[in-house]
Amino acid sequence: MKRCEFCSIIRGEAPAEVLFRNDNAIAILDIRPIHFGHVLVLPIRHVETFIDVPAAECEGLTRALQTVTRAVVHALRPPGFNVFSNNGRAAGQSVFHFHFHITPRYADDNIKFILQLKKYQQDEMSEYGRKIRHAIDPSAVPTQPGR
Ligand SMILES: [Zn+2]
Repeated sequence: MKRCEFCSIIRGEAPAEVLFRNDNAIAILDIRPIHFGHVLVLPIRHVETFIDVPAAECEGLTRALQTVTRAVVHALRPPGFNVFSNNGRAAGQSVFHFHFHITPRYADDNIKFILQLKKYQQDEMSEYGRKIRHAIDPSAVPTQPGR
């Protein structure tokens, strides 16, 4: 495996401002924050994206995520916050050890996702729904198109 900066932090070989740790996750301050108090919550196990996190370790990871999100909100009292993750280079992932971001948000902080929202045509929505439901449970009875 290529040297991973997050694995180095987890092993205690690289410095980090550690906020929290449980059996499955560790929370650290991001060294290049969107806002001060921007936190990264990462699985102890090296996995590349969210879907690679073993199911048995998801609860510990998401519990850490909520515990630390609450702490950020209680400690810093921002009027809002984002919880997000980037998965894959196309989605903006830059460290390929999966991590959630927690960042405080403030009114008019000039951070924007520039979105061009699409519109489903005719049966497209039910077709996307069918594909994803099938991937969740291939044995599920398909719903009738057109409702
Ligand atoms: Zn790693």
